[in-house]
Amino acid sequence: MSEVSKDFKSVGLSQEILDNLKSLGYLKMTPIQEKGLPFILSGQDFIGQANTGSGKTAAFALGILAKLDLTKLSPQALVIVPTRELAEQVANEIRRLARFTNNIKVLTMSGGLEERHKIKSLKQGADVIVGTSGRILKLLETGKLITSDIKVLVLDEADRLLEMGSLAEMNRIASFTPLDRQTMLFSATFPQGIKELSSGLQEDAAQVTIDSQHQMSTTQQLFFKVEEEKNDALLCVLEHYHPESCIIFCNSKEICNKVSGWLRTKTIDSLQLHADLEQQDRTLTLIKFDNKSSRILVATDLASRGLDVKDVSVVINYDLPHDHELYIHRIGRTGRAGQEGLAISLYTGRERETLMAIGEYLKSDCVIKGLNELKETKSVILRSEMATMYISGGRKDNIRPGDILGALTKEAGLKGVEVGKIHILEVNSYVAIIHGKVEHAIKCLNASKIKGKKFRVGKA
Ligand code: AMP
Repeated sequence: MSEVSKDFKSVGLSQEILDNLKSLGYLKMTPIQEKGLPFILSGQDFIGQANTGSGKTAAFALGILAKLDLTKLSPQALVIVPTRELAEQVANEIRRLARFTNNIKVLTMSGGLEERHKIKSLKQGADVIVGTSGRILKLLETGKLITSDIKVLVLDEADRLLEMGSLAEMNRIASFTPLDRQTMLFSATFPQGIKELSSGLQEDAAQVTIDSQHQMSTTQQLFFKVEEEKNDALLCVLEHYHPESCIIFCNSKEICNKVSGWLRTKTIDSLQLHADLEQQDRTLTLIKFDNKSSRILVATDLASRGLDVKDVSVVINYDLPHDHELYIHRIGRTGRAGQEGLAISLYTGRERETLMAIGEYLKSDCVIKGLNELKETKSVILRSEMATMYISGGRKDNIRPGDILGALTKEAGLKGVEVGKIHILEVNSYVAIIHGKVEHAIKCLNASKIKGKKFRVGKA
């Protein structure tokens, strides 16, 4: 973040929220928060042109939290997102920001296996609903989602919402909500459709644009000219930079398969993410990447937008993306919220034109490097230290991270440092455990109880 960025006190948030932001390590506002929050908190309609990684979720989440009336039972905020994964991530960010009170309930509604439980939860009362447009519309049309108390409607990644759904669908969703609501719209790009969406749903909206130059100012971008067969170049880059975590972007799932398979021959494990995977597998892949069970994710552009994959130290474009906007989205996975990032692109003579187009868009010359400039290292150790354990209980069983950590320390004798991230979903949970201890942890937890209840525990 730039030195001029202010802390959150200047926008008039409650002391509890300020304390929580501090405990989350959100010390300074990101540009979208600094410029947007005064409008958002005043209740004005709002258009934010900002990428994932800009801190936009916290910007609208803080607006939502400031408006919630905890005496109400039916939902007061509705957030529409393009994918299920993003629904989970946005909901988690809102939950983190709402940690100062136990009473705020955030539910995701985006189809899938857990939906039945969620409809039950919805009936018991929820404050914030985050979901995909198709699913939300169905709930509205069948009267399962009551909207009379909705004060805030957020359309997140609106450009993608329009790609996946339609303008008519968004307008229809909005038509179920009260007219005096606040409508916030976030989008990385601003095609004509977004303008139409805004003029249909918003009134006197304040607009804040965070230019992509600003957003990527902390990311170093390097371009390597390589041979048609790129695998050796990829290995060379991995050996040199030795990333803590890395996404390798490919232009097709076939290329993802090829790259992953080839890495395996070099004893480098990787996860894959592309549209061919079932929803459940996608979720698990993202969890394993997030909890550091694998350091490398080989992905198509499914992973370039929207997904909040944290702490990616390096993005590698194995293929140059076909257009510059995709390039911006891909490299937005690194250098997030002000951290330093590195984006490496491998290109061949045949991809020269695409490279020039990217350079033109960036309004700067691309820094071209030769592989011979990289220091040779003999072997790569890109193995992760963690493995993922699965537990057949989740939010519906009222399990919290502390319960799992408690069981692992008490029943399995693990030390806190041997346990990594804990992800709690609606009906199950995933826990990162240090490799050497995972079998032992599974055995102990299968023989004991969590919150007085038995669960199945295994390796995910
Ligand atoms: P987003 O653009 O909403 O996907 O947010 C990108 C990442 O930045 C998320 O991991 C947030 O948790 C994090 N983040 C948001 N606001 C801040 C802040 N003010 N300081 C530090 N991290 C932040």
